[in-house]
Amino acid sequence: VSGFWCEVAWLGGARADQGVLVELDGERIAKVTTGVTTPPDGADRLSGLVLPGLANAHSHAFQRALRGRTQGAEGSFWTWREQMYDLADALNPDSMLALARATFAEMALAGVTLVGEFQYLHRGPGGTAYADPNAMGAAVIQAASEAGVRLTLLDACYLHGGIEPNPIQQRFFDSDVDAWAQRAGLLTAGPLHRIGAAIHSMRAVQPESAAIVAAWAAERSLPLHAHVSEQPAENEGCRKVYGDTPTRLLHSEGALSERFTAVHATHVSDADITLLGGARAYCCLCPTTERDLADGIGPARRLRDAGATLTLGSDSNAIIEPFEEARALELDERLVSGVRGHHGAAELLHAATAAGYASLGWPEGGAIRAGALADLVTVRIGGVRLAGAPVEDLLDAVVFAGAAADVRDVIVGGRFVVLDGEHIALDVPRELTGAIAAVAR
Ligand SMILES: [Zn+2]
Repeated sequence: VSGFWCEVAWLGGARADQGVLVELDGERIAKVTTGVTTPPDGADRLSGLVLPGLANAHSHAFQRALRGRTQGAEGSFWTWREQMYDLADALNPDSMLALARATFAEMALAGVTLVGEFQYLHRGPGGTAYADPNAMGAAVIQAASEAGVRLTLLDACYLHGGIEPNPIQQRFFDSDVDAWAQRAGLLTAGPLHRIGAAIHSMRAVQPESAAIVAAWAAERSLPLHAHVSEQPAENEGCRKVYGDTPTRLLHSEGALSERFTAVHATHVSDADITLLGGARAYCCLCPTTERDLADGIGPARRLRDAGATLTLGSDSNAIIEPFEEARALELDERLVSGVRGHHGAAELLHAATAAGYASLGWPEGGAIRAGALADLVTVRIGGVRLAGAPVEDLLDAVVFAGAAADVRDVIVGGRFVVLDGEHIALDVPRELTGAIAAVAR
């Protein structure tokens, strides 16, 4: 038998199953059999709780270099943004490659097998185009490949500076939406990466240009992501200039669909929630970043009830803890509502796996079932955080108390990327130290 025998595995239901045989056919799962009490000959034994690979549906890898440099500061999202711009201005394709590779490798150690990188740093200093207009995107693609994780490169259209423009934003601009489409059209998918489109935000793209990006993605059946209502000032700016909310503008321009992801959706109105749910869109909440930047707490349960599908992202990478992102959906809503039980552990894991995969254009991933990509993660259950948890409630234990440090093995397409807590190709702390020292100011 070629494949893995799992002591305990989560197959998508309310509880995990004991004794699960996962047989492989190349990089896919060929067959899943439950109730297999002893490992068959030839199958690799996976200890602990086996989950599908985790999807980090929203990341800006380079912002990892701000960790520990901005968290203690006063101010708001808007003052943090100035520090982020200074960092962006220090990057070139080589330093982007090193920093993104190290960050994606840190994600792999935390159980992430697919990352959606929302990439808007397109140009060199002063807004000069690189000889290869996709030099930065290519660096991100190479970084993910070397870190061993799948990637969806969400190429962001970013056309103007919006509220309080900063000259560094010229590094993010395409000259117009047609230039964006032409440049993004040069990007091609590979075995470990796919392409998606992004509208940076309604702060950065005019409605008529957003419509063109949406049509471009629709013609190609690609994912379309956009930052939506992260900050009240973003809504106010939008209302002042266009007389509408970001969500309603995106709806008017044809952007909302079951391929669309609204990133954050923190400050959305009742009407916005109805539109996002009615479109069967994804909403990617990024709770650790939203806390860090004092954004607010998004209406996760109301979005879900309206018909939207929740996904999760590490966004600024101030911390890379997928189980913390997942449990924060529930715990933050408890703080707001005074009531428990908005999202169960299996629902939170669904957001962290299959929903994230689908939102990034990999609908065949994020689940342990025949035909799915053989992307798997093992979580050690005998460690200090999870010791003593009852087997029948392992999902609750892992989601509500697990940490990246409990991830032992990570398998992408049937191959180990992380083995017993170590990245197989990279010395990740050393890579992070070097890459951050090269760009931090
Ligand atoms: Zn973001």
